[in-house]
Amino acid sequence: MTNIAIIGDEKSGRTSLASKLGKKGTDSDITLYDDDRHERKYVYVDAKSYPKSIKSIMSALNLADMALLCVTPGGVTPHMGECVIALDLLGMKHGVIVITKADTSYPMEIEAFSQKLKKMTVGTVLENWEILALNTNKDAANPFEGLEELKNKIHNIADQIEPEQKLKDNLPPRVVIDHFFNVTGIGIVVLGKVLQGTIHTHDKIGLFPPDKKVDIRSIQTHDIDVKEAKTGARVGLALKGLLERELDRGYLLSNEEIVATEFEIECQLSKFAKAGIELEDVIHMFVGLQSEPVRVKKIIAGGVEKEKIGAGESCILHVTSSKKVAYGKGDQFLFAGLEDNQRFTAIGKIM
Ligand code: GDP
Ligand code: MG
Repeated sequence: MTNIAIIGDEKSGRTSLASKLGKKGTDSDITLYDDDRHERKYVYVDAKSYPKSIKSIMSALNLADMALLCVTPGGVTPHMGECVIALDLLGMKHGVIVITKADTSYPMEIEAFSQKLKKMTVGTVLENWEILALNTNKDAANPFEGLEELKNKIHNIADQIEPEQKLKDNLPPRVVIDHFFNVTGIGIVVLGKVLQGTIHTHDKIGLFPPDKKVDIRSIQTHDIDVKEAKTGARVGLALKGLLERELDRGYLLSNEEIVATEFEIECQLSKFAKAGIELEDVIHMFVGLQSEPVRVKKIIAGGVEKEKIGAGESCILHVTSSKKVAYGKGDQFLFAGLEDNQRFTAIGKIM
């Protein structure tokens, strides 16, 4: 199964595109669209509350194996730039730049615009992404032109993603939870994605950060009961042994997470993090789908303690959060300042 984030500035045609690619399902600050019509399954995640909410785009990207960046013709906006920075910081290897609303422009203009996008993304993780123009307008002169081509491109990228997922099927299981609710007669149901490993019905597994054991009563993928689910699968799980109020977005089902409120992170600041990071700043930390405000307690660069660190620099950042956060050794920590125009500041890993 391939999970695809659909991101871009507001009014960039994200939701129109998503609704042509899949069937609308779970809806919160992200909306999930399911495409189970083929042998190969796709789930699209529309980061619909972005740019207002960066939690929305972070959740979509952290659930995704690839991304579609939607840009309208000529639509290089500060938020579009911010999306490129987020993709670059997270190292999103697979994706397509989609020029949406192509019916509102002309082939020559679109060609010139793709050249501009190519130039703009040189040196970022997007430099090898293909660029494709399409429309989702049934009243256009060429209705839906480009849509089938996009589906083919997604299919080709999934050809690369699925073997990458298979390699992880034997790792210790890890599921990230994005939604949860209480269902009368069933109990707690969580929705999420198998990040790695394989889960089975009747598995006993840990819930982190609370660090307690729960039972997997049943597993569904695409609304069908299954006995097991592998890496990449989007799942609905009925769990035994917990209450709704014990859950939060980003919690992990796993057997070996680290839980902490203090973090020492080896960070690289974005070249575009104009404001930098200062001691005692309160910034936002995203780890998978968890997000917490954290306070900067120490900045070390070149072995020396600093008051401040600027754009493009690297450092060791000591931060503290008031709530517990669960993570694994290789997890990416992304930092954002909420006031700036370009909010994504730095990426790092635990030392
Ligand atoms: P979002 O904010 O990124 O989710 O953008 P929407 O999908 O809601 O689209 C914003 C507006 O553009 C809506 O009024 C759509 O009807 C319109 N729109 C979206 N895609 C197309 C397209 O391919 N062609 C035309 N002409 N309009 C479009
Ligand atoms: Mg929308």
